[in-house]
Amino acid sequence: MNNDINRMFNKSFNDMTFLQNELSSDFQKFIFVFDFDLTMTIKNSGEYRVETGYYDLFGSEEKLEKLKKKLNSLKSSGHVIYINTRAYAEYVRRILKNVNILVGDECLIKCVYGSQTVEEIQKPFTLTELNEYGLLGIENTYVLWSVKKVTFLNLISTIESIPKSNILFFDDLSVNVNTAKMNGYKNSFLIGSDDSGLYGLDFLLIKLDQIIDLFKIKI
Ligand SMILES: [Mg+2]
Repeated sequence: MNNDINRMFNKSFNDMTFLQNELSSDFQKFIFVFDFDLTMTIKNSGEYRVETGYYDLFGSEEKLEKLKKKLNSLKSSGHVIYINTRAYAEYVRRILKNVNILVGDECLIKCVYGSQTVEEIQKPFTLTELNEYGLLGIENTYVLWSVKKVTFLNLISTIESIPKSNILFFDDLSVNVNTAKMNGYKNSFLIGSDDSGLYGLDFLLIKLDQIIDLFKIKI
């Protein structure tokens, strides 16, 4: 019974019907927004050891190259890629630089949004912001970060002048996917599932294949 519930739960978070219904033959720009840890990686960047090398974080050099190839196809088809992470953004940029993924306006990844300071990883909002967003009294960091991620999605939607429905958001935490969906980002996808046994980059590579196929992108 529990397995069935899990299966339905995961399915509902990964339903692509919305996307299928919205695709017309005219080109539409989509913004791909990826969480970093355990979405683009196989391990948590905060836990892996530098001595083992950066490829370890992505599972293998082969998996990382597959990811780059798919992201390159999305970008060269006119779509835009962002990262939306709880991690210290500067640290993520450093990892990407070390595996030759460039971040910047015309680069593979346009921008990495995340913690600007190490303190923000635990406290994403100031007291003023907590008040503004109606979050006073909420201390659960996961819940707070799920809202913080929505503020980054809102920022991206404004910068790109694109409706929320053209933003595809990928994250391995259901609280983040759920909060994004509740705030209008219906094309949000949970990365990883108990019943498939796949998680992180292994799951994302399959998800991207499905989307690339749906968008009829040449790879
Ligand atoms: Mg994550």
